[in-house]
Amino acid sequence: MCTYNQTDKQMKTICEHGQPEKIFPTLQWDDIDTVLLDMDGTLLDKHFDDYFWEQYVPEHYSLKHDIPVEQAREKLLALYRDVEDTLDWTDLNYWSHELGLDIPELKMRINHLIGVHPYVIEFLEFCLTMRKKLFLITNAHSGTLSIKLEKTSIGPWFDRIVCAEEIGVAKETVEFWQRLEETLGFDKTRTLLADDTEKVLAAAESYGLGHLIFVAKPSSRKQVCYSSKYPAIEFFKELIPRTGTSIPG
Ligand SMILES: [Mg+2]
Repeated sequence: MCTYNQTDKQMKTICEHGQPEKIFPTLQWDDIDTVLLDMDGTLLDKHFDDYFWEQYVPEHYSLKHDIPVEQAREKLLALYRDVEDTLDWTDLNYWSHELGLDIPELKMRINHLIGVHPYVIEFLEFCLTMRKKLFLITNAHSGTLSIKLEKTSIGPWFDRIVCAEEIGVAKETVEFWQRLEETLGFDKTRTLLADDTEKVLAAAESYGLGHLIFVAKPSSRKQVCYSSKYPAIEFFKELIPRTGTSIPG
């Protein structure tokens, strides 16, 4: 599977048994005045998160409990699945308590793996030049956010950064987007969301968000994985028009 937090069969992208066809974006930038961007996997390389939760944490858990790493990984993946799509999943304090490990400290030890995807800065620059409102919208815990912003310095590009814990529910819920609109005051028909999780796009679609983009290469170490429902990009340069303000077909 693409990620362990995409278990809904209807929403899961088909990666094991072949690719869905890529749906190319046909954005008209004149129709958009607000851009909402996810962080992990969308702007930043998800390799850090995959490695951290699937490899690094199981290794430390196996050492602490004196069990084989594979056994630790299986146990932890089951624990992760139990809280997927909830705020607990991203809550560092929850996991520190649940696993008896200092999760923020472990994240700091491998923060050299945190990286910005290619062409992200060019895209942020493009949005700024086009005078779009830019918001970073993330399920990430504020502790994780601080570590990543410090490492990548992308914070100043945004008009505002919103963590799901501030809204009170995860981005995978329709309620999140209703509350976000109340918080930010955007016109949902003139707003674009780019995210690497289909469930998030589906919730935003149900709420009525106008423009949706699926990020098909969240990790530099994994294959491209298109959505069967949403227009997709591998890199943000695909959303920067070569000339004018429209995306060439
Ligand atoms: Mg993401």
